[in-house]
Amino acid sequence: MRINIQLQCTECKRRNYATEKNKKNTTGRLEIKKYCPWDKKHTVHRETK
Ligand SMILES: [Zn+2]
Repeated sequence: MRINIQLQCTECKRRNYATEKNKKNTTGRLEIKKYCPWDKKHTVHRETK
């Protein structure tokens, strides 16, 4: 089962990315390092609702 989530930058708190995850394979909160155009660097983006 796939659900849509948004990824929020942990530094500037902006929501930069939307993605989807497979609930079966992903346990807990998703954390991905992605480029943040506001911070102009790679930061940790966390799943949000
Ligand atoms: Zn940021």
